[in-house]
Amino acid sequence: MSKPILWMVIPCYNEEMVLPITAPMFRQELADLISEGKISEQSRICFVNDGSKDDTWQIITELSKQDEHFIGISQSRNRGHQNAVLAGLMEAKDQCDITISIDCDGQDDIHAMHAMVDAYLDGCEVVYGVRARRTTDTFFKRFTAEGFYHLMNWMGADIVFNHADYRLISSRVLDHFADYKEVNIFLRGMVPLVGFKSTSVYYDRAERIAGESHYPLKKMLALAFDGITSLSVKPIRLIAGLGLVISVLSFIGVIWAIIQAFAGYVVAGWTSTVCIVCFMGGIQLLCLGVIGEYIGKIYMETKARPRYIISERTWAPYEREYKG
Ligand code: UDP
Ligand code: MG
Repeated sequence: MSKPILWMVIPCYNEEMVLPITAPMFRQELADLISEGKISEQSRICFVNDGSKDDTWQIITELSKQDEHFIGISQSRNRGHQNAVLAGLMEAKDQCDITISIDCDGQDDIHAMHAMVDAYLDGCEVVYGVRARRTTDTFFKRFTAEGFYHLMNWMGADIVFNHADYRLISSRVLDHFADYKEVNIFLRGMVPLVGFKSTSVYYDRAERIAGESHYPLKKMLALAFDGITSLSVKPIRLIAGLGLVISVLSFIGVIWAIIQAFAGYVVAGWTSTVCIVCFMGGIQLLCLGVIGEYIGKIYMETKARPRYIISERTWAPYEREYKG
């Protein structure tokens, strides 16, 4: 069997400080994997320039001139980390057998690629890189980042805990992933939806080698919000549930107000006012929840996600030769 071709997909946004340091590290890892006979000599390191405003693209073109193993693509403008990774993966999928996406700042242990490729050779098609410890992150970053995963899971977006966008995906899985046509993408929530055999590889997260994080709390919250709303309709369910609770409470409120009226403790008009307020409040929220359910359904339908994906067959489909 010929060796698999690996493409590393590396998003870069304003990383002129980092790239000259980490590019040789990626190159070394690729060379090691090739010399150990795990991957093909045709393997490549693909940088995705995400509309950087500094010299990142110049550095990438320089690298590609010096060494054919480095290649680069550039997005017409800054579209954000998730889109940059997606662009790279889609570029790669028809050229290689496996992809590994990783940030370019050296925070994720590059050597974990060895374990990822081993897992692929053992038959896994998706391998998640998971941060075992976050000792180098500040308490605040750790607290907010871990809170992010708990919030996501609670809101119905199943994601692998402490796994960011460092993962191996086979081209076969990417072919199916390409059928997920949605525009709002949250890769770490979507990749598990495709299925296929997967496993995790653990590593320690290091500090950024140079430059600054592009993910301050504000962007992280935006990512969490995007992730929840694009993967789950649970917030709508919560509204419907709240509507139900308020309706029950209102019903009790109405009975209570009537009892009060009969007991004669109240001024004229109070009972009817309370009854109307309770009734309207409960009904309105409940109706909003019901309408929301339908909107949730429409939302999921508009994504036009594949309804099934076949991973194995005991027979080979007939391939028509005539394609006229
Ligand atoms: N990145 C990108 N586009 C953006 C922001 C970030 O391609 O708009 C890249 C960035 O170059 C890096 C990766 O995404 O390779 C992760 O960003 P960063 O290290 O700033 O995030 P953190 O690790 O702090 O969460
Ligand atoms: Mg980083």
